Amino acid sequence: MKIIDRLREDKIHISFEVFPPKTDAGFDRVLKATDKIAELKPDFISVTYGAGGGTSKNTAEIARHIKEDLGVESLAHLTCASSTKDEVRNVIKNLKELGIENILALRGDIPEGMTFPSEDRFQHASELVEEIHKNGDFCIGAACYPEGHVESENKKEDIGFLKEKVDKGVDFLTTQMFFDNDIHYNFLYRIREAGITVPILPGIMPITSAAQMKRSQELSGTIFPRRFLAILDRFGGCPDAMWQAGIAYATDQIIDLLANGVKNIHIYSMNKPEIAEAIMSNLSEIIKS
Ligand code: FAD
Repeated sequence: MKIIDRLREDKIHISFEVFPPKTDAGFDRVLKATDKIAELKPDFISVTYGAGGGTSKNTAEIARHIKEDLGVESLAHLTCASSTKDEVRNVIKNLKELGIENILALRGDIPEGMTFPSEDRFQHASELVEEIHKNGDFCIGAACYPEGHVESENKKEDIGFLKEKVDKGVDFLTTQMFFDNDIHYNFLYRIREAGITVPILPGIMPITSAAQMKRSQELSGTIFPRRFLAILDRFGGCPDAMWQAGIAYATDQIIDLLANGVKNIHIYSMNKPEIAEAIMSNLSEIIKS
């Protein structure tokens, strides 16, 4: 099923994310975690794409497993900066052969030492969106950044390029993680004003340790509000307490979003079924409402 058809239903939708192993050795461990997450019956599970493109085979296979063996819809991420156009076309062909209907089209980070733009590569995610449409009848998602993408001069320019990307045929957008919902509400206002009307899935990252917070900040450059920093300051030294506080913070963010009219939530569950389970348990009655 195309994810966009599900998102159009007037109900709450929850999705989770898993990432493929870096080597084939970790494959079974990731499958086990994925199976557990699928038991929660989310609306879909997304499968990330290794930064260098080297794990594309695993992304495709895990996405196939989710859809075919577990009966949950899957979303395969695909990046283009680290692969040639022909390599990207081959991945799209493979996804099509495996029956994957949903792709999250991403540029990916530009590999270190690489001259970009490069003639034989797609330069922006928008070019990848066009290419995917040429190669099959896929539902296409893309990324957006409530705090602005790190390479952008300012949010206005970023939203301008986002509009161009959506106009190439993006069905829905998933946001980068954020920890202050007001930033998301401001972003929603600005993109709607810019004429972007597709469904937006806020991406919620439950932070359950100090080390994870540091990594997330390095990856996304996101701002952590004072309220979150106080939690980290008080509980960061006690793993069990920080885990509980991190789940509570993410749950609180989700409840606030739902209370303010958001219908679709994407949870960066990071191959951790226990995190997905804890949040779903906190939301059990809310989701039914
Ligand atoms: P783009 O949409 O191409 O934008 C990148 C930058 O270029 C932005 O600053 C934008 O404003 C600018 N830009 C866009 N169009 C133009 C134009 N025509 N002219 C000039 N500038 C332009 N990375 C992975 O490696 N694997 C994953 O699985 C993965 N999943 C992700 C999922 C989500 C929900 C998010 C938010 C990010 C994910 N990323 C992933 C990270 C992502 O690949 C990086 O953030 C990357 O740097 C940008 O990708 P993009 O698709 O947003 O790029």
